[in-house]
Amino acid sequence: MNTTRSQELYAKANLYTPGGVHSATRNVEPHLVFTRGEGAYIYDADGNKYLDYQAAFGPYILGHNHPYVNNKVIEAISRTDMFGVGSTDLEIILSEKIVKHVPSADQVLLCNSGSEATYHAIRLSRAVTKRNKIIKFQGCYHGWHDYVARNMLSAWDMIGKRDPGSAGMLDDAIDNTLVCTYNDLEDVERTLKANEGEVAAIIIEPIPHNIGCIMPQPGFLEGLRSLCDANGTILIFDEVITGFRHSIGGYQQVAGVTPDLTTMGKAMANGYPIAAIAGKKELMERFNTKPGGDCWFAGTYNGHAVGTAASIATIELMENEPVHEHIFRLGEKMRSGLREIHNRLDMDVFVAGFGSVFTTYFMNFEPKHYAELQHNDADFYVKYRHKLIERGIYKMPMNIKRNHVSYSHTDEDIDHTLDVIETVLKEML
Ligand code: PLP
Repeated sequence: MNTTRSQELYAKANLYTPGGVHSATRNVEPHLVFTRGEGAYIYDADGNKYLDYQAAFGPYILGHNHPYVNNKVIEAISRTDMFGVGSTDLEIILSEKIVKHVPSADQVLLCNSGSEATYHAIRLSRAVTKRNKIIKFQGCYHGWHDYVARNMLSAWDMIGKRDPGSAGMLDDAIDNTLVCTYNDLEDVERTLKANEGEVAAIIIEPIPHNIGCIMPQPGFLEGLRSLCDANGTILIFDEVITGFRHSIGGYQQVAGVTPDLTTMGKAMANGYPIAAIAGKKELMERFNTKPGGDCWFAGTYNGHAVGTAASIATIELMENEPVHEHIFRLGEKMRSGLREIHNRLDMDVFVAGFGSVFTTYFMNFEPKHYAELQHNDADFYVKYRHKLIERGIYKMPMNIKRNHVSYSHTDEDIDHTLDVIETVLKEML
């Protein structure tokens, strides 16, 4: 695989940008510079073509550069952009769609990134409850801000301990965020009891996709709902990954558990920058977009025509075409194909996933929470991923993240991927 041009450009990128990349988890070997994306494929600066499952960390539910979405964006920006006052027709159309589809959404506010959405959800929870503390779960990611950046991919000896995710974080922000173990309801109950009357919100990825695909055990999400109700605590589902991907109403629709607030992003606009916070009317009306509201919500680019038009188009396709049926069928085909390969090769590994998402944990049991991922052979994955990239299959940089099938992937793409995976694994064993 010739990557000469990528290397030249990457050296140049390093001159102007620390590490040559514009977000933390992008600095991975092999350093490729990408110049084109189309459907299920991405292309680097040397013209190498890859079947893409990283999906830019999740937004591409329809595939790259989707013509229906692009055309709707072009149509929108040829007549409108943003005005900084009043509302736009696009904002109203999109908000109505979100309220129609997402069970917890009586009302919605648009912003530009998942981090903004989780920030606003937590601030609103504090405004409403007049409490300071929140609970998050070890391994879950909710964005880069101080409220949630602790205890993400913690070193094994730091699990559950005070593990700020970054230098420069406010001590108060770190200490007011309590950390529990996913799938451990008793831990949450204990933590709420020890901090009685002090916990404003529990924020959770209903399926923690930032550590692959750990499924909620039966009763876990329902149990969180009951604990929140009993303690006057606000339940926030961070559906930035699961929203619109696992159903048009998000994973809350699948699970039948309705949170008080929901954050969304990524798949809601197939790669265009937009995010949202939605929830119960009596909570949402505390934002000062409504006169009298006392919780600040603002943003110059909120509701920009590019993101809103893209999101409307993406949701329209989900409404009118069998998007979820297709990605769920291919996701299952991938997972069962992987299991067959591992059986044939006598590999004791665990294939996890839901809908369009799949992860192979290189460990011999189903993980229930982050600490169990210590058994995963991360080094094996790094070598495996490199060999796949050399053969034109692009997977996530870390195998405790997840891979995604899009509406643009075909049966032939999955068959081809499985063939390549079997060849690579045979070579490695
Ligand atoms: N929440 C979850 C579950 C995420 O996976 C992410 C990003 O990966 C975020 C929030 C933050 O979103 P953004 O990167 O758009 O700020």
